[in-house]
Amino acid sequence: MKLHEYQAKEIFRKYGIPVPEGCVASSPDEAAAAADELQGPPWVVKAQVHAGGRGKGGGIKVVRSVEEVRNAAAAILERPLVTKQTGPEGKKVFQVFVEEGVEIERELYLAVTIDRAMGKPVVIFSQSGGMDIEEVAAGSPELVWKQFVDIRSGWMPYQARTLVYGMDPLPGPKALKELMNLMERVYAMFIGIDCSLAEINPLVITKSGDVLAVDAKINIDDNSLVRRKEMQALDDPREKDPLDAKAQKYNLNYIRLNGNIGAMVNGAGLAMATMDLIKMAGAEPANFLDVGGGASEEMITRGFEIILEDEKVEAILINIFGGILRCDVLARGVVSAARKSAIRVPLIVRLEGTNVEEGRRILQESGLKFLVAGDMGEAAALVTKQVKKK
Ligand code: GDP
Ligand code: MN
Repeated sequence: MKLHEYQAKEIFRKYGIPVPEGCVASSPDEAAAAADELQGPPWVVKAQVHAGGRGKGGGIKVVRSVEEVRNAAAAILERPLVTKQTGPEGKKVFQVFVEEGVEIERELYLAVTIDRAMGKPVVIFSQSGGMDIEEVAAGSPELVWKQFVDIRSGWMPYQARTLVYGMDPLPGPKALKELMNLMERVYAMFIGIDCSLAEINPLVITKSGDVLAVDAKINIDDNSLVRRKEMQALDDPREKDPLDAKAQKYNLNYIRLNGNIGAMVNGAGLAMATMDLIKMAGAEPANFLDVGGGASEEMITRGFEIILEDEKVEAILINIFGGILRCDVLARGVVSAARKSAIRVPLIVRLEGTNVEEGRRILQESGLKFLVAGDMGEAAALVTKQVKKK
C-alpha cells in the first residue's frame, strides 16, 4: 500500500526524522491559506499522487508569493499529472501539499527496502541524490552504496559511519551527526510500521547545514495490514484502478495488464503458465487473475465481472484445474456473472479435475455460448484465433 508524501512526512515526524513544515490542500484557496500560515517565501507546492517523477512532470513548483502559491495549486489541480511513472494518460491530482521552501546545498538519496536475493533489509545511500538518481544508478552504480542489515542485531552505528564517511566532500560535523541519526531513525521506522519501502529523495543538506527530508515515500507491506488498522485508514482509494480496487475487496489476486485476452485461472503457477501460453500463441494477456484454491461461487462471479468490465478485453479464457476449487462451483460462478451482464466477447473454457462433468453440464445447460478446449495449448490457440479474426 502506497502513502502520499504528506502522510509519509507525518510518520517521519513521529520517528524524529526532520521534514519541512507543510499543510495539505484540496483547492487553490486552501493552498493560499496554508501558505499564509507557513513561513516563506519561498513556498513549494507539490502534487499528491501515488507516482514519482513529479518534479520533471511539472508537479512541483517553487514559488515566492502567496498569489503564486494559489496559481501553482490551480495549475497542478487542473489537469492530470503526467510523469515517467503515470503512463501517458496521467493521474488526476486531488490534493497539493504546500511546504516551507528549503535552501538546498546538497541533494542526497536514502532508502530502505528488502533485498529479496539477500533476504535482508538494505539501506541504500548516494551523495548524488535528486531527480536524476535513476540515471545515476543505471550509468554509475558505483555512486550508489548499500549496507545490508542483519535483522536480529538491527542497524549498527558502524554502518552509518561507513556510508557517510564515504562522502566527498565530507559535510561538516553537525550534518554528519544528523545524517547518522537520521539513518537510524529511518531504519527504526521501516521496521516499526512494516514498510516494504522507505525512500527520501532528495535528502537535503541545507545552506545552514541542517539535514532535512524534502521528499518522502513510504510503501507499506500489504501483508501487514491485518495488524495495522491505523495504516488502513491512510489508504486513498482514488489512487487505484477501479478494477484493482474491486479485486482487492473480494480477495482476488488480480493484476491488470495491457493485452486483450482476459484470463481466469486458479493457482498462481497455472495463471503464469497460461499467460506464457497466450503470449506464445501470439496474443497478449489483459490480466493476471488467480481466483485461488478455495474460491467461492461469489468470488468467481466477481472475478468474471472484473474481466468483463475491462473494456480492452476481446476474448476470455477460463483455465481451471479443479482441485480444492471444484469445477461445478466455477461453472455456477461464471453463469451467475453472465446472467447479470451479457458476455460480449468469445469465451473459451478448459476445465479438468474435480466435478468436471458437472461443471461442463452446468455451462452447457446455461445457454451460454462458449468453445471448449481439450488442453491448455489448444485453449491458448483458440482464444488467440478469436482476437486475430477481427
Ligand atoms: P519527485 O520529483 O516526485 O521525486 O518530487 P520531489 O519532492 O523530490 O521534488 C522534486 C525536486 O524539487 C527536488 O529534487 C528538489 O530539487 C526540488 N525541490 C523540492 N522541494 C524544494 C524546496 O523546498 N526548495 C528547493 N529549492 N527545491 C525543492
Ligand atoms: Mn523525490
